Amino acid sequence: MEERRSDNLKNKSLDIDKIAQICSDCGNCLYSCPVYNSELIEPNSPRGKINLIKAILDNRLKPNKINKGFMFQCLLCGSCEHICTNGVEYLDMMINYRNLIFKEKNIPFKKKTILYFYQTLILKKLGWFLKILSKTSLKKKLTIPEIDNINLNKLYTSDYSKDFDILLFPGCVLTYFYSSQIEKIKRFLENKGFKVALPKGLKCCGFPYISQGWGKRFERLKTKNINIFSDIKFKYLVVPCGTGVITFNKYYDLKEVEIYEFTEFIYKFIRNSKVNINILKEVDKKITYHDPCHNLKSLGIYKEPREFMKQFGVKFVDDKSELCCGFGGIFSVGFQNTSKKILDKREKYLKENGADIVVTSCPGCYMQLKENLSCDVKFFVELFD
Ligand code: SF4
Ligand code: SF4
Repeated sequence: MEERRSDNLKNKSLDIDKIAQICSDCGNCLYSCPVYNSELIEPNSPRGKINLIKAILDNRLKPNKINKGFMFQCLLCGSCEHICTNGVEYLDMMINYRNLIFKEKNIPFKKKTILYFYQTLILKKLGWFLKILSKTSLKKKLTIPEIDNINLNKLYTSDYSKDFDILLFPGCVLTYFYSSQIEKIKRFLENKGFKVALPKGLKCCGFPYISQGWGKRFERLKTKNINIFSDIKFKYLVVPCGTGVITFNKYYDLKEVEIYEFTEFIYKFIRNSKVNINILKEVDKKITYHDPCHNLKSLGIYKEPREFMKQFGVKFVDDKSELCCGFGGIFSVGFQNTSKKILDKREKYLKENGADIVVTSCPGCYMQLKENLSCDVKFFVELFD
């Protein structure tokens, strides 16, 4: 079987100090970092954060509000790790460090509130309120999505007694904000002949919690997800979100399951799928693909989406910039100005490239681009509509 970079992520042992000590201070990562590029402050750079962690672990520096603050001025995009020739596993280091110092009781109230509301109340109680906000000037400031939801009840699997090919893990952004995309993905896979299970109760992989240092809540969610997985017989776990794939590979013990990001799955099993070239309605329109950071930099997914994009022929403008969109989940709420600066840079490049339609396969990038850019933004599965 073809070896995938994501397989190497499974169950790595993680040690903050060991990882930090590998850093040689060379600074090669600085200009790959979207946050450093926007703010140009050393503690905002990957190297700066590593040095802060080293100093705190060596007792040369006491953890305080300021250095704790720097630890969150990071999108966890993995650009630094991707470029580092010394092999510093920055994401592991940072996530573990956050979990070490921000035990549940120390998580700032504002952050906890955002996470709590995001995961529990938005869908049930605040959907109508977000719809109103999305019509105001706050829409761009806070990246408030125009919710594109359908009733998922009709899609949920009720009979678990069958053997399924795929367990489709929808992820939180699509579930809460764009569930029409889940329907498209499920239908697409079923039309290709796969038996797809979409169990009720699976929403979030837990990355928003573990990445912010809220390990206890992550563990509760993980247990819930694993219990649902264990009720169903399936071969492939398909996740239309690279962040989810990383989370399942690193933080879940799913040794027997083959985990695929959606573009990776269709590249491997149904590569002959035809895109609908008519989505480029006008002759002179151009289409491009935005690489989500986790897909490209952590999972090594590059050729897979392009295999399909190239069916657009000369109308496909390949974007090799590797630029981040500035979303980073809760980062875009906590550091709106920096997020906006990163997005502006991304938008400028897309405009220079002349793309009229931007396609992406990460729900977070989709939200950031769709809700903020003036061009047409599509989720990857929509290519096959
Ligand atoms: S993280 Fe890697 S690239 Fe960045 S300063 Fe350290 S060794 Fe150099
Ligand atoms: S993960 Fe991304 S944002 Fe964070 S330090 Fe590395 S390059 Fe910068």
